[in-house]
Amino acid sequence: MIVGGGIGGLGAALSLRAAGLECVVVEAAAALRPLGVGINLQPHAVRELTELGLGGVLAGLGVETSFMTFADRHGNVILALPRGRSAGYRWPQYSIHRGELQMALLAAVEARGVPVRTGVRFEGFEQDGDGVTVTLRRGGRVLRERVDVLVGADGVQSAVRARLHDPAGDPLLWGGIRMWRGVARADPILDGATVLVGGSNLAGKFVTYHISASDPRLVNWVAEVKVAEPGAVPEADWSRAGRLDDVAAHFADWKYAPADIPALLAATERILEYPMVDRDPLPRWGEGRVTLLGDAAHPMYPVGSNGGSQAILDARVLARCLAADEDPARALEAYEEERRPATSALVLAHRALPIEETIRLVTERAPDGFHDVADVLTEPELAAMAAAQRRISDADVRALNQRESWSVRPARTDPSEP
Ligand SMILES: Cc1cc2nc3c(=O)[nH]c(=O)nc-3n(C[C@H](O)[C@H](O)[C@H](O)COP(=O)(O)OP(=O)(O)OC[C@H]3O[C@@H](n4cnc5c(N)ncnc54)[C@H](O)[C@@H]3O)c2cc1C
Repeated sequence: MIVGGGIGGLGAALSLRAAGLECVVVEAAAALRPLGVGINLQPHAVRELTELGLGGVLAGLGVETSFMTFADRHGNVILALPRGRSAGYRWPQYSIHRGELQMALLAAVEARGVPVRTGVRFEGFEQDGDGVTVTLRRGGRVLRERVDVLVGADGVQSAVRARLHDPAGDPLLWGGIRMWRGVARADPILDGATVLVGGSNLAGKFVTYHISASDPRLVNWVAEVKVAEPGAVPEADWSRAGRLDDVAAHFADWKYAPADIPALLAATERILEYPMVDRDPLPRWGEGRVTLLGDAAHPMYPVGSNGGSQAILDARVLARCLAADEDPARALEAYEEERRPATSALVLAHRALPIEETIRLVTERAPDGFHDVADVLTEPELAAMAAAQRRISDADVRALNQRESWSVRPARTDPSEP
């Protein structure tokens, strides 16, 4: 049983099914609707989704990302990092609408016969050596169901995580940065395929990227501003409405060449607001036949375009481990061993906001802009900035291109089959 029908939960359902394992998804929302704004899928995740049969679907929905470009608040380019195939990967990076991606995953999951039960909220579990008894709530009714394995893919406020780890010792941590997000229509920015990061979130940062293969004017934006000192926050709701005036005030005096920010903000129908939060990495994710996946396991700051991608990698490794070992508890241990150290390191690397300091230096050295970045940053400073960004966003190009597939040949149910 997978709790949560987000990118991670649906990715897990597809992966388990492809490995010949039965599963069911329970989702608290009454219906899955295309929520959210833009998200990026890195080549390491695009490889996995392609091997699950979704390569064509992604190409039809998203924009193949060309560059991740960092600029100062005037739009002068500090650093342009080629992405996806331009960076040598065999698979593209896609900038895509999160809701459309989720709907595409849902359609694929349902087409493969996996039940997705909406309006069903996970509440608790008990386990013994033979299985897990899960408590669910559907409307006013409490259901108790017996399953072999329970996977908490229920996001940053995971109820499964809260049953496994005392919430008092595992708070949502806020670095003081508020994000506003939205989607608007505008003339293509730069080549219409670049993730453009302007400024630094220490003083105000504005990120734009186009997200639709069929509508080249559709652009996603994220504004990040440090508004408070670090502390804990009680909740983080991806769908909370934000106010135009709150965000516009921070960018009113920007002279930003690539895009008219005030016009973009004014053209946005629905602005969303979200605190940039994470949690400390856990010393273990699950126990016995219960584990965590995606944001439930390793919520990270969304500055490396890697949260959704890491959830997909979790999903594929989980399916491979469960298919390879008849003992579910041992399989989940192997899954954690492979995924926990890597994602814990990523959480901390994201939290360090590794490129902000370099952009702050640019602002300090050239407050009115520059013509040539070489006048502002030394080569080692630029190289260090590129390396820092790659550490949070990228996989090793050669290793990804050359490693064997994680696909599992499903166990044959009929021995007479060839
Ligand atoms: C509504 C929404 C909008 C988002 N928008 C963006 C965005 O614009 N850009 C971006 O970069 N990231 C966004 N994210 C986060 C992004 O999807 C994740 O960081 C990443 O894809 C990992 O996904 P996940 O499946 O682990 O978690 P999520 O995508 O958060 O999915 C978790 C799912 O679990 C369900 N759930 C929660 N509690 C329970 C429970 N007790 N019982 C059953 N189901 C439960 C939730 O309803 C949700 O569908 C959004 C997440 C959500 C839920």
